[in-house]
Amino acid sequence: MSEAPSFSGVMCRWIGDVPLEADPMLIFAIVGSMLLVGAVVLAAVAIRRKRADARLGYLAQYDQLTGLINRTLFHDRLNGALTRARRDGGLVTVMFLDIDGFKGINDRFGHAVGDELLRQVAARLVSVLRESDSVARIGGDEFTVVLEGGKRVEDAGQVASKILRAIGTPFLVGDRELAVTTSIGIAVYPVDGNTAEDLVKGADTAMYQAKAAGRNTYQYFTRALRDRTADRLELLDELRAALESGDQLRVEYQPKVDARRGVVIGLEAFIRWDHPERGLLMPGTFIPLAEESDLIVPMSEWLLDEACLDMRRWLDEGMRPMRVAVNASERLFRDSNLVESIAVALAAADLDPRHLEIEVTERMITQEAERASRAIERLADMGVRVSIDDFGTGYSSLRHLQSLPVRALKIDDSFVRDVDRRDEARSIACAIIAIAKSFSLEVIAEGVETAEELEALRDIGCDRVQGYLVARPLRPQDVLEFVDDYDRTLSFRPD
Ligand code: C2E
Ligand code: CA
Ligand code: CA
Repeated sequence: MSEAPSFSGVMCRWIGDVPLEADPMLIFAIVGSMLLVGAVVLAAVAIRRKRADARLGYLAQYDQLTGLINRTLFHDRLNGALTRARRDGGLVTVMFLDIDGFKGINDRFGHAVGDELLRQVAARLVSVLRESDSVARIGGDEFTVVLEGGKRVEDAGQVASKILRAIGTPFLVGDRELAVTTSIGIAVYPVDGNTAEDLVKGADTAMYQAKAAGRNTYQYFTRALRDRTADRLELLDELRAALESGDQLRVEYQPKVDARRGVVIGLEAFIRWDHPERGLLMPGTFIPLAEESDLIVPMSEWLLDEACLDMRRWLDEGMRPMRVAVNASERLFRDSNLVESIAVALAAADLDPRHLEIEVTERMITQEAERASRAIERLADMGVRVSIDDFGTGYSSLRHLQSLPVRALKIDDSFVRDVDRRDEARSIACAIIAIAKSFSLEVIAEGVETAEELEALRDIGCDRVQGYLVARPLRPQDVLEFVDDYDRTLSFRPD
């Protein structure tokens, strides 16, 4: 019977034919590494357990095939978005997508191909949407999307077009090229419904309308419904009554500031509708409706009157002179009644035109170039300042900018969002600032929400900003106090 082998003997044998002596240092190293391996294994077991737990949670909320969220989590996200919108007054868009003829692909090429196609469709959906949007697979070839924070009902259509294009580009599954299309239904809170259930149902119904309309297209639940039913007329009637009674519409004012000097440089007027049953309605929900009817004229006139009268009052109460900006309605601008309405409002409030500014979107300028330049010239002659809103989203030519008597460009909030982290946003913001400088125009960034965005904008030469970081739109009675406080505290004057 041999003697029990010593540990070092085992180690010597273990390293067997490695031509090495049993050096104590080597043994030490090997024992050390074995201990390390043991520790690593234990840690791995713990991680795996944790992962298993996480995986159970994951399975309950995510779709295994595509990795998208499932119906349950989708409803949670939608409800969260609705809660925020009820509080802050934004839009929430629900889309319902169905792949056209998916069953045929499954039948012809088998489920493995079908599954891979769904995975690729999911990946494309994710790639065209923003990170803040939610995409879910809620059934075989059915997907739902929530977009949050939109301002105009029409914006959803643009996103839907993007999705149609993305899905319409052929897929490569294995070595097979598959061309598919999709049909999309859209429902928007608060226009088409108040609850998650109603919105999903509305989007689903609209999706069937899109299929009926020939597939590879999108349909609004509203548009189909509005045209057929009394809903649209009802809202219009209510808007008319609101205008007559004068106690449901009101104006809020958002300060524009110069962050370098730490002063308020102006205010922008936004219309609000406190609807007795539907709650707070934001302009994106009713301005398009008003634009389609004649109501846009009295509504814009009312708003101009209010803004001028409020400014008159603030000045009388001792506010430092500044401008109040009013957004031009597309219709009014096109029909060029705007200039007359403005003259009347200024006279009624006994306000110097220098205290008024009109924001015209880049789109209005490019679509009706001649008429627009005439209106802008007349406003400038009157002494009213004109600035270009949503700059960067349209296609205005540099020649326009040079020939029009405009004084300021507003960097659209889509290039302000995450400008500190998105190179693309920063490049466009930089380009707009450069254009403004070379045409001697003022430049201001709208929709600044974070200190990081502000810092990034200041780094590239834009000190004038507007956005939730500085202030949300204020009630008229709160404006004077804000201006006073801001001017005094110098809160955004870091340098
Ligand atoms: P806009 O002129 O581009 O106005 C900016 C919108 O962004 C406003 O929404 C404003 O409340 C919101 N906003 C301001 N700061 C921030 C921010 O930091 N983050 C985010 N996410 N949003 C911010 P609102 O009031 O819903 O107006 C939407 C659009 O409706 C306006 O876009 C404007 O085109 C139009 N609009 C608003 N009021 C009037 C009006 O009285 N007359 C006309 N014709 N159009 C109006
Ligand atoms: Ca504006
Ligand atoms: Ca804008």
